Amino acid sequence: MTAPPEKEAPKTSNFLRQVIDRDLEQGTWVARHWAGQPGDAAAHQQGVADPARIRTRFPPEPNGYLHVGHAKSICLNFGLARDYGGVCHMRFDDTNPEKEDQEYVNGILDAVHWLGFGWDAHGTSHLYHASDYFDFMYRAAEYLIEAGHAYVDEQTPEQMRANRGDFGKPGVDSPYRSRSVAENLQRFRDMRDGKLPDGAAVLRAKIDMASPNINMRDPTIYRIRRATHHNTGDKWCIYPMYTFAHPVEDALENITHSICTLEFEDQRPFYDWLLDRLSDGGLINQPQPRQYEFARLNLTYVLTSKRKLKALVDEGHVSGWDDPRMPTIVGLRRRGYTPEAIQLFAERIGVSKADSWIDYSTLEGALRDTLDPTAARAMAVLDPVKLVITNWDELHGQGKLDDCTAPVHPHQPERGKRAFTFGRELWIERSDYEETPPKGYNRLYPGNRVRLKYGHVVECSGALKDASGQISEVHATLVPDTKSGTPGADAIKVKGVITWVGVADGLKAEVRLYDRLFAVPQPDTTDKDFHEELNPDSLKVVTAYVEPSLAQAKPDDKYQFERHGYFVADRKDHQIGGEGKPVFNRVTGMKDSWGKV
Ligand code: ATP
Ligand code: MG
Repeated sequence: MTAPPEKEAPKTSNFLRQVIDRDLEQGTWVARHWAGQPGDAAAHQQGVADPARIRTRFPPEPNGYLHVGHAKSICLNFGLARDYGGVCHMRFDDTNPEKEDQEYVNGILDAVHWLGFGWDAHGTSHLYHASDYFDFMYRAAEYLIEAGHAYVDEQTPEQMRANRGDFGKPGVDSPYRSRSVAENLQRFRDMRDGKLPDGAAVLRAKIDMASPNINMRDPTIYRIRRATHHNTGDKWCIYPMYTFAHPVEDALENITHSICTLEFEDQRPFYDWLLDRLSDGGLINQPQPRQYEFARLNLTYVLTSKRKLKALVDEGHVSGWDDPRMPTIVGLRRRGYTPEAIQLFAERIGVSKADSWIDYSTLEGALRDTLDPTAARAMAVLDPVKLVITNWDELHGQGKLDDCTAPVHPHQPERGKRAFTFGRELWIERSDYEETPPKGYNRLYPGNRVRLKYGHVVECSGALKDASGQISEVHATLVPDTKSGTPGADAIKVKGVITWVGVADGLKAEVRLYDRLFAVPQPDTTDKDFHEELNPDSLKVVTAYVEPSLAQAKPDDKYQFERHGYFVADRKDHQIGGEGKPVFNRVTGMKDSWGKV
């Protein structure tokens, strides 16, 4: 557990902070005891006063890599625990007997750590697995049966569905609903002991088949499923349903605020019903956890569903979970996002109780705001064409180069200067020359003067074209005594300043220009198959020239390429020297211009 940094501005309040403030003020949780590990009422009561002022949890299912929506939940749950002197539990929700993939488990733990959070507090690791609670869950189920709150239903799934009713129609009681406690207990044990085939019976809570909330119409809490569980092997052939398991997990772990997304709002009455019953039976610690719902993150131009993201990976639409176009945490990381940017994003979008879509530019804005003060500057030419200074040899001598410098960061002189050379041949952007300039165009065209940033002023004299009519070389003459930083350099006024890289010392690099993964703002919200909504131009690879200071770039280093935006040395493919090549990913442009061109 880490204390909130002191100089950090106070966090914007939200309804969850208000709930916690009120709880702390009223001392709602002060009398709780903690066994030092998850446990039932008896275990906790023998423990010490809970050293955590609140307990939250982040409970992913290990069935894929985490995405930006999970990042919101991580920042929220771990952030609240940190800010309030609490603890956030890292819990794998592995009650489904699917094969747990160690790759996903490791990926999830890495993502949480990378975002800046951890689960060690008070000398203990709070990393838990829901499947460790199967024994208690079974005991809780038998208790419900004994107290007359649950029964084994042997209707067919079709009968059960038909008898559940719908919004306008109350449900119909199952003929098995009035079985005796003894008979229910026997049948439930038969289920457990493998005497019934898969699907032949379920255990249901006995609540109210006429409830206006369909979730309260005797929800299923256990089903038969012969499957080997990664943790418990073949010990069980019955498994708890999520709606039953989750509140129990929270109770055993002494969770105070169980924060989930809005789709679970209708489940809250069952959450409370179940924990009330288990409290009556003295099975769980007091006071019992409470559930609070917040709006899930929907981010434009991407999908936030592990299952659908997995489909994109499996079908080869992207290069992997860490493809820089993916909204996964590993994808964002490879794209050049930082933990600070994602935390700032989470802080800015806040938490609310109403579903909405957050524009992708909000994420990019948070990134720019965190990278602008930190990223070193560099010049790069992404669509290069050669500029030849035709009077260079005459003025400076054949083969001579002129040393130029520029600040590493314009507002941080202490970071020093970068050096590169100006010579007879330079790379410039193809779009910086126009034979017939459109109105307002201030860059190179015959007769116009521009400044080559940090270098000299040149006057354009024309261009050569190749056989296809494409410009192959732009020509200009140097205007003497105009070198940036020398006395009198500003005597010649120019309207345009362009960036460049010297042919003599420029470094050839692969630059990957990433764009939105989907072409529509809200993919997968209509009848259309989301595959058809993918942006066919989400990746363009170019050969660029970059200034020599980038020979120092290490994987993950971030730069602002002047005029172009933010770029990162790819964490997998970037290599200087040897067999490899420098590879930079575009993180985002200089400002939000998407869709405007
Ligand atoms: P997915 O469909 O992507 O698998 P999920 O909700 O099933 O999402 P879990 O692994 O069960 O994924 O989620 C772990 C936690 O992350 C849950 O508490 C869930 O509420 C939260 N979470 C998942 N998606 C979002 C989202 N888009 N916005 C905010 N929180 C989310
Ligand atoms: Mg899920």
